[in-house]
Amino acid sequence: MGRIGDWWWRHRFGSSLRCSYTRYKTLLVEQADFAKGTSSRSTKLVHGGVRYLAQGDVGLVREASVERGLLQKNAPHLVKNQTFIIPIFSFWERIQYTIGLKFYDWIAGRLSLGRSVFISRKKTIEALPDIKTKGLTGGVLYHDGQFDDSRLAVNLAQSIVENGGVALNYVKITGIVKDGKVITGAEAVDVENGKPFIIKARSVVNATGVFVDDILKMDNPHAAKTVVASQGIHLVISKDFYASAHALMIPKPSDGRVLFAVPCTMKWWWALPIPLLENLRWSLMHWKKKLNLY
Ligand SMILES: Cc1cc2nc3c(=O)[nH]c(=O)nc-3n(C[C@H](O)[C@H](O)[C@H](O)COP(=O)(O)OP(=O)(O)OC[C@H]3O[C@@H](n4cnc5c(N)ncnc54)[C@H](O)[C@@H]3O)c2cc1C
Repeated sequence: MGRIGDWWWRHRFGSSLRCSYTRYKTLLVEQADFAKGTSSRSTKLVHGGVRYLAQGDVGLVREASVERGLLQKNAPHLVKNQTFIIPIFSFWERIQYTIGLKFYDWIAGRLSLGRSVFISRKKTIEALPDIKTKGLTGGVLYHDGQFDDSRLAVNLAQSIVENGGVALNYVKITGIVKDGKVITGAEAVDVENGKPFIIKARSVVNATGVFVDDILKMDNPHAAKTVVASQGIHLVISKDFYASAHALMIPKPSDGRVLFAVPCTMKWWWALPIPLLENLRWSLMHWKKKLNLY
């Protein structure tokens, strides 16, 4: 596998894969299943980040769009092109989202997944049969990626092993081994039989996502917090409620957050309202405004 995109190099599998290409011997350890962490809870989108564009973070969107394109080129068996539709209810929305998404296409350059287009009211209703039609004037259709992150993780683990590295799951890091101030390895435990052991290493990469501070504290109990947790929820609903092959995106429902309804498997649809769990009511209220769900 060639270059897969910088984001993945920062991810634990990406950084391990990169190390495995060097002269270093590489060991990746995971305390549970390989793709169990936050990754297993994601919306499975490999996107350029439309909402970050709305926040003016052009650099981030360019970076993410390039990674999205590289992932699709390198792992076409795992990344698929997904069409999204933003329903349009006013002339101002039409101008705003048509121009915004043209810019989104342009920013990805040759790695764009497809051109965004404005579609008529009739075509929007055909594409999204459950959309509320009152005030609807059309839609903007754009392209992003959807991927199978678990299979990608397993494929990357296979590549690490192919390069002479080792990937072990059900091994938990319990401490950092140091010689003076220099880190020389890690204490680990085999989660299946409870046996502790020491891993010697010249370099230790802490790529544990949201758990990163727990590991930092093993090195320095007074280490400053580096990650602030946020929450999101997915509502899993039957496709019978919403029979469309297109994902639906509702930007800025009332407070700048974004809602997605994304087709997931043969049977289910996923809906993602960004942060807090108690906002289930908020989420349902906004779906109700746009869809004939109930
Ligand atoms: C609701 C939600 C939706 C999201 N949707 C998307 C999306 O659509 N697209 C997208 O690209 N991103 C999405 N993200 C973000 C994405 O999920 C994360 O950026 C990504 O999963 C982080 O991967 P990671 O490997 O860094 O962390 P994780 O997947 O959390 O992996 C860290 C791993 O470290 C292991 N670990 C922790 N401590 C130890 C230890 N002591 N010893 C051994 N192992 C340990 C954990 O078991 C865990 O498996 C979403 C996030 C959320 C919360």
